[in-house]
Amino acid sequence: MPLVSMKDMLLKAKTENYAVGQYNINGLAFAQSFLQAAEEEQSPIILAASDRLVDYLGGFKTIAAMVKSLVEEMNITVPVALHLDHGITVDRCIKAIDAGFTSVMIDGSHFPIDKNIEMTKLVVDYAFERNVSVEAEVGTVGGIEDGLQGGIQYANPDECVRIVKEANIDALAAALGSVHGPYQGEPKLGFDEMKQISNMTSIPLVLHGGSGIPLHQIKKAIELGHAKINVNTESIQAWTKAIRKVLKFEENIYEPRAVFIPAKEAVIDVVKRKMREFNTTGKAK
Ligand SMILES: [Zn+2]
Repeated sequence: MPLVSMKDMLLKAKTENYAVGQYNINGLAFAQSFLQAAEEEQSPIILAASDRLVDYLGGFKTIAAMVKSLVEEMNITVPVALHLDHGITVDRCIKAIDAGFTSVMIDGSHFPIDKNIEMTKLVVDYAFERNVSVEAEVGTVGGIEDGLQGGIQYANPDECVRIVKEANIDALAAALGSVHGPYQGEPKLGFDEMKQISNMTSIPLVLHGGSGIPLHQIKKAIELGHAKINVNTESIQAWTKAIRKVLKFEENIYEPRAVFIPAKEAVIDVVKRKMREFNTTGKAK
């Protein structure tokens, strides 16, 4: 099955009250693990490359070719979108689209809203005729991830409505208390604001920093319009923990494959658990 945009995936998810997971690629083995989990769970999936990791991962073309080839070689039948996470500039979003990404996020959230909308419009203009979906962000997700850092700043509902209407985006990341990286204590999501923004915009919302949020809050976020949840921290923590265990207890091992196989299995377990929690298991059809 060729890669798809996340537009139909997210509209279906919002209508049927579940959320498609976005899982961030940190190397070939991650992409393999995500796709295997999705196929075994018969779940739609969004594989993402964070813009700040694109060079580390070998560039836009390498990432797109890798994911496309894996989908073919692994006989993946479930819908797969390849998404650029936190696209830094309009130019880089265009590069991703030209390389074969089927979805992009343009993150103009650190600019004033007029500039954010202007950047987002330019990306949507280019993406629309190429069947590529676009996500934008309003407000600031807290914490640190891939070099991004900042305190939480709640999305302004009027600005959310403006960007949805004026830029005609497919999905909106409205920052409402979530954090990139590990949470300090119980996450506090702004559910009242979430409800208000969801009602005012009625497009699929995206929850960034989806790792470590208790299940009851995840369920509530889905009820209140979230159709996409981003997961990275939990899969990289599981990966590193598995590798640490192998290196600690099996000192004679030196073959990378022997080190990585338990790590891949740990990532597959995390993703499958998320698919069940987000209720995407069996939703591939
Ligand atoms: Zn994010």
